[in-house]
Amino acid sequence: MVDVGFRLWFTNRNTQDPTFRRAVSYVDSVVLPPASNPVPMNSSSLLTSSAVVTENVCRHYRMGDAIIRAVDGVTLRVAAGEFVALLGQSGSGKSTLLNLLAGLDRPSSGSVVVQGRNLAAMTSEELASYRRNDVGMVFQAFHLIPSMTITDNVELPMRFAEVDREVRQQRVHESLERVGLGNRLKHRPSELSGGEQQRVSIARALANRPSLLLADEPTGNLDSRTGEDILHLIRDVSHSMKMTVVMVTHERALAERFAQRLIFLADGKLISSGEAEPPPQTRLGDTGTSEGVLA
Ligand code: ADP
Ligand code: MG
Repeated sequence: MVDVGFRLWFTNRNTQDPTFRRAVSYVDSVVLPPASNPVPMNSSSLLTSSAVVTENVCRHYRMGDAIIRAVDGVTLRVAAGEFVALLGQSGSGKSTLLNLLAGLDRPSSGSVVVQGRNLAAMTSEELASYRRNDVGMVFQAFHLIPSMTITDNVELPMRFAEVDREVRQQRVHESLERVGLGNRLKHRPSELSGGEQQRVSIARALANRPSLLLADEPTGNLDSRTGEDILHLIRDVSHSMKMTVVMVTHERALAERFAQRLIFLADGKLISSGEAEPPPQTRLGDTGTSEGVLA
């Protein structure tokens, strides 16, 4: 359970503040009903060798009488340790797909399997644990908490994960050293440049040593030189920590330089996954085609 000090700390925050909510979103916010389409887990070798496998995954929104097919039948796999870039025009479904991989949202139908575990079949508690322990997220707008030092910002997900205090402190230092900010521990976000703030958010994402790093337009708010530095950093940490990276971007030139594979979305559909042809064993079983539409 969460310690009393942390409860006080948390309850004294304005939890309606959008920046705060975004910053903690990937650890505790989403409570959605379990999906009704669990995938049979008769795992093939694909399930264990791939970090991420989606099978005909859909996320449809109902807006009045209309249905918006934000993600519309995407079948995809990402190998463990691979660095892939997800490209497509604005509105093509990139962030929606990333949020499904992050366990921030649930598919309307289809499956998302990360390291052999089907997110669609997880309870809300299991999904929260998955977000805390297995996934790191980096956002375009950093989403640091302005009133907290960078040390406290990086420590935050570990407090949610109830990591011991000494281990937390050690990991904060390690993570900030890794991103080149070991000498800025007491600074607040407003005292740092945009590139430095993004480094802090990467340190925060790495603190729980996730196996999967998800980045949504991580260079979108940065000048091109700083954006390049950030991508060098993401590539280096993914190598050294043997992490799988899925990065959304619309900067194709950068994606070509840094990612191992480019995946293109249009209108919620995969138009190219960078693979010659899908391997025959990508079928995980009949996941159904019914259109359970959430919200
Ligand atoms: P991208 O990240 O590629 O710009 P998004 O994944 O954010 O695209 O959005 C894909 C489509 O889904 C867009 O048409 C968007 O308007 C719609 N969409 C995203 N989130 C919601 C939502 N919560 N409710 C309704 N429609 C949404
Ligand atoms: Mg987006």
